[in-house]
Amino acid sequence: MISIEEMATFCKRRGFIYPNSEIYGGLTGFFDYGPLGVEIKNNIKKEWWNTFVRRREDIVGIDGSIITHPKVWDASGHTSSFQDIMIECKKCKERYRADQLIESITKERADGWSIKKIESFIKKQKIKCQKCNGELAEAAPFNLMFHTYVGPKQDKESLAYLRPETAQVIFTNFKLVQENARLKLPFGIAQIGKAFRNEISPRNFLFRSREFEQMEIEYFVHPKKREECEQIGEVENHELFIYSEKMQEEESKPKKMKIKEALSKRIIKNPWHAYWLATCHQWFISLGAHQDHFRIRQHVKDELSHYSTDTWDIEYEFPFGWKELLGIADRGDYDLKQHMHHSKKDLSLFDEETKEKIIPQVIAEPSIGVDRTFLVFLYDAYTYDKKRENIVLKLHPKLAPILVAVFPLLSNKQELTKKARDVFNMLKEEFSCFYDASGSIGRRYSRQDEVGTPFCITIDFDSLTQQDVTIRLRDTTEQKRVKEKELKETIDKLIKEYKS
Ligand code: ATP
Repeated sequence: MISIEEMATFCKRRGFIYPNSEIYGGLTGFFDYGPLGVEIKNNIKKEWWNTFVRRREDIVGIDGSIITHPKVWDASGHTSSFQDIMIECKKCKERYRADQLIESITKERADGWSIKKIESFIKKQKIKCQKCNGELAEAAPFNLMFHTYVGPKQDKESLAYLRPETAQVIFTNFKLVQENARLKLPFGIAQIGKAFRNEISPRNFLFRSREFEQMEIEYFVHPKKREECEQIGEVENHELFIYSEKMQEEESKPKKMKIKEALSKRIIKNPWHAYWLATCHQWFISLGAHQDHFRIRQHVKDELSHYSTDTWDIEYEFPFGWKELLGIADRGDYDLKQHMHHSKKDLSLFDEETKEKIIPQVIAEPSIGVDRTFLVFLYDAYTYDKKRENIVLKLHPKLAPILVAVFPLLSNKQELTKKARDVFNMLKEEFSCFYDASGSIGRRYSRQDEVGTPFCITIDFDSLTQQDVTIRLRDTTEQKRVKEKELKETIDKLIKEYKS
C-alpha cells in the first residue's frame, strides 16, 4: 500500500485532487477536485443515492442549505459541545488535538477523554511537543464550528455557522418531509452535502480536512419497535470483522463472523444496527472495495457523542492505521426532542395503530464521508503492474472517471480518425468517453490504465471494412473484436458482469 503522501502526489499528477489555492501556498485542510477527480466523486455520490434513496421505498432525499438558523445548533448541542480538546506548546506555540497527540505517541485511544484525564495522562507519560520537545500548556476545549455573519451587520444577532454535519437540516425539515412524502415508520431521510469543521490539525490528505462532504441517512423507527427490523434476513449471512467494546477492553482481536452470529450472541444488540452496518459494508464491496479491508468497531463509553447511546463505526485499514470511514449512531429521540423544546413546534407523529402521538427515534444514522470514501476506492483500486511497468487503477466501471477511451490506430490516417470520431460520438451519448489520437497505442493504454479507464477501443484498418473494433480490458489486457453495432450492448454487459 502506498503512503498517504504518495497517494496525494498521484492524485495531483493525474488531475484527481489539488491542494486548494496552491499558487498562494495552499490553505491547510482544503482541497479541490480536478477534472477526473470530480467525475469519480460524482460517480460515488450517484451510486450512493441510487442505492440508498432511488431504489428504496422507505427512504427519500433532501438537499438542505449550509447555513441555517443559529438556534438549530443551540438545540443540537453543537454550540456548547461540538469540541475537541486542544493543547499548545508553551515554547513554539504549535497546537495539537490532544487525543491525536496522545494516540500518535502512545497508541492509546483518547477520543472523548475529559480535560482532566488528558492532562494527567500527558503529565504521567511525560508527553512533550513533537516539534520542539517543549513543555505543553494546559488543555482547553476548542469549538469546531466555522462562524460567519448573515446580512450587512456583523454583530451577535447576525452570527451564523457553516453546518458541521448535514444531519440537523433533516431534523428541522422532519415534519414537512414526512407529510409531503407520506412516509410511514420505519423510514429514512437522506442527504448528500458539504460540512465544515475547523479541525485543529487537519492531516492525512483528504482524510481529515476542514471542508468535506457527507452522505447521511437518518433512519426513524417507532419508539416501541426499536428492535423490529423486517429486512434483517437480507443481511443475516453477511460476514464482517467485528470489534466490539468488550473485545477492545479485553484487548483481543476483531473476529470475523456472520451478522446472525453477532446478533444471537448479543455482540451487536440491535438488529437495525446490524442491518445498516452490513448494508453499508455491502455497498462498498459491490463497488469493488476489498471485503477484508474493513471492520466494524463499537465506540467505547468515553467516545460516545453527547446524543448517542450506541455507535458503531465502519473502519478501513488506511496506511496510517485503522480509521473511521463512517459512523452509525443510535441518536434515539434526542434531536427531535431538542428541536421541539427549542422551537416550541410539535414534531411528533400520530400513530394510526395505537392512536397515540409518538416521537420517532433515530435508530441508526449511517453517516459516510464522501472524501474518505474516495480514498478507500482509490486505495483498493491502486496496483502497480510489473509487466506493464505502469500503475493500473482497477476502479469499478461504475466509478471510473472515463468509462471508454477511443483511439484511431494511427493519427495521420484520415479514414481512421474519422471512423474513430464516429464511434466516439456514438458512445458519448451514453457513456463517459475520451478520444485520444496522440502517441503510440501502448502509451495511450498506459495513460488510461493509470486513470482507471476499464475499456479502450481501437479502430484499425480492418474496422473500415468489417465494421468492427477492438475492445481492450484494463484489468487483464485481454482484447476482443466486437461488431460496431453491438458495442453499446457489449459495454453494458461488461459493466454489469464486472468482478474486480
Ligand atoms: P473523527 O472521529 O474522524 O473526527 P467523527 O466521528 O467526528 O470523525 P462524524 O461526526 O461521525 O465523524 O462524521 C461522519 C463522517 O464524516 C465520518 O465518518 C467521516 O467519514 C466524515 N468526516 C468527519 N470529519 C471529517 C473531516 N474532518 N474530514 C473528512 N471527513 C470527515
